[in-house]
Amino acid sequence: MTPESRVLAASGGPLWQGYDVALLDLDGVVYLQEQPVPGAAEALAAARRAGLRLEFVTNNASRRAVEVAALLTSLGIPADAAEVVTSAQAAAALLAERLPPGAQVLVVGAEALVAEVTAVGLTPVDSADAHPVAVVQGYGPEVGWRHLAEAALAIQAGALWVVTNADLTLPSLRGRLPGNGSLVAAVRAATGRAPDEIVGKPHPRLHAESVRRSGATRPLVVGDRLDTDIEGAIHAGTDSLLVLSGVTRPVDLLAAAPHRRPTYVAARLDGLLVAHPGVPTAAEATCGPWTARRAGADLVLSGTGEPEQELDALRALCGAAWSASFPPDAVRADGPAAEVVLAELGLP
Ligand SMILES: [Mg+2]
Repeated sequence: MTPESRVLAASGGPLWQGYDVALLDLDGVVYLQEQPVPGAAEALAAARRAGLRLEFVTNNASRRAVEVAALLTSLGIPADAAEVVTSAQAAAALLAERLPPGAQVLVVGAEALVAEVTAVGLTPVDSADAHPVAVVQGYGPEVGWRHLAEAALAIQAGALWVVTNADLTLPSLRGRLPGNGSLVAAVRAATGRAPDEIVGKPHPRLHAESVRRSGATRPLVVGDRLDTDIEGAIHAGTDSLLVLSGVTRPVDLLAAAPHRRPTYVAARLDGLLVAHPGVPTAAEATCGPWTARRAGADLVLSGTGEPEQELDALRALCGAAWSASFPPDAVRADGPAAEVVLAELGLP
């Protein structure tokens, strides 16, 4: 399917039936700020019982797989380290492919990244004076100017520059914090060079590593971000489920560009357990009791469904919104039931 023709697809039966491994993003999907998303543990346990294998895939390079597995287990989601793949692991695997055994790598990041570099037989160093052949850069709360300065010097001396991920921000309860991408931008500004490789989503390397490690033949990407999880899945030609428990709001989904549109949408992970209806991309699109149509630059929703059928309303709105190349200016209700369900979705 070309990105331009992407539509919300019909799953035929319960979603888990069509796939062998769910490649699950963590923050905003399984947990939020280290608190489990309501219902996540129950939904994942049920999906496992049904036969779906789980692989947890994270751009975060500051924890080792074994630590992520322990955190999940403490949240009621029993997980083994072998079911976790981090961008630190994928970055180390890439370096091991490119460099001779024992080669010196300047590590800018957390202890977890140092450990992964060591685990693949390379030698972590912390100074450009050691003449490292590569720099690997990931997020770590202790990373400071001195580390960025060493990275800049090594990169100017010609070292291969690999970054774990390019996320500009980290969500927190106090607001958006600088993510690895922001620190990479500082080094980029100082050196006038761009990274040679970016490993994390939406770039293909982390996804490929998760498929390789899990042995998936029919993977389903599950994520909460359009610009990392969903775009990465589309790059890889893999189907995806967007969950609305994280950063993406219904209004963002309606405005999504073709290369960021998921195959399926659900409120939370229990979307793995149910059948999903297909919705055409057309100026007038119907899903369940709801119909959405283009009216000039606006979208108009009509129907007589219940508020708890809000996902069908959202699907119908996606079908109509995605039928034209511009995002809708406004979403309007035609009738009281549509008005209630739009409020449920936080629209317009
Ligand atoms: Mg996420």
